Amino acid sequence: MQVCLECGERFVSSDWRCASCGFVPPMNDTVLFAPDLATAEVGFEQSSFDHLPEVEEQSFWFQARNALLVWAMRAYFPGARSLLEVGCGTGFVLTRMHAVFPDMRLVGSELSARGLAVARRRLPNAELLQMDARRIPYDSEFDVVGAFDVIEHIDEDVLVLEQMAQAARPGGGVLVTVPQHPSLWSPADDFSHHRRRYVRSELTSKLASAGVHVLRTTSFVSALLPAITASRARERRRKSFDPVGEFRASRRIGALLGAVMTAERALIRAGVSFPVGGSLLAIGVREPFGGRFAKPPNEQR
Ligand SMILES: [Zn+2]
Repeated sequence: MQVCLECGERFVSSDWRCASCGFVPPMNDTVLFAPDLATAEVGFEQSSFDHLPEVEEQSFWFQARNALLVWAMRAYFPGARSLLEVGCGTGFVLTRMHAVFPDMRLVGSELSARGLAVARRRLPNAELLQMDARRIPYDSEFDVVGAFDVIEHIDEDVLVLEQMAQAARPGGGVLVTVPQHPSLWSPADDFSHHRRRYVRSELTSKLASAGVHVLRTTSFVSALLPAITASRARERRRKSFDPVGEFRASRRIGALLGAVMTAERALIRAGVSFPVGGSLLAIGVREPFGGRFAKPPNEQR
């Protein structure tokens, strides 16, 4: 179902016209649910979108995260027919999902018009929405809803998780990745507009309060943690962060790091859940009647 962001009505419509109040969101080549924020400097360094596509293609980290997400989809939601990615950025994850699951309905949402323009080039046929993750215009719509390194950019992260759970069908999947360990905070986090790095208990309790039953968590980028820690300490001493330099360095040793991540993924697949690592993956399902948005069937209209 769709949700009218003006009046809250649930409806199904191909043109987003609310059956109750008649509201239609503005549109250009995408539907604009938060046009006021489309070009705002919030949550993400807008200039990053210019070099991000190149970085993503060449970075072991983005490639390895994609492989982990594909594994999570196959292992936990094998019958999924639809996926909403909240904060899809330049569409790097969805491009991979489309290659692996060509028949899946893929919907990407992104606050930034600049990010969406890149995503549109990569995904000419996907449904792309300009949207604020705190106001998601769907209820019980998707088999899986994911946000990959998104909620750490947003003050109201619990609200975002609630909205994601609402957009998933009851029993549907919720997939989240976040940066982990507040002790790893460095100028890279400041540059990235992060509001926080998580500890596992914080993420799982926030998911639970959003009505998500957590099935599995694991750290990833675990084997590289000593290297990350050293690099972060170096940045803190220098009090600076050079994103291009960091990715250039990672390109040089990218093949080696990629191999380390592949080995790590094999262990995760085999059931190992790493306790520490630069990033954290949580896999959950929307509680059938959980969260404060959902009502038991006999209370629904
Ligand atoms: Zn309405």
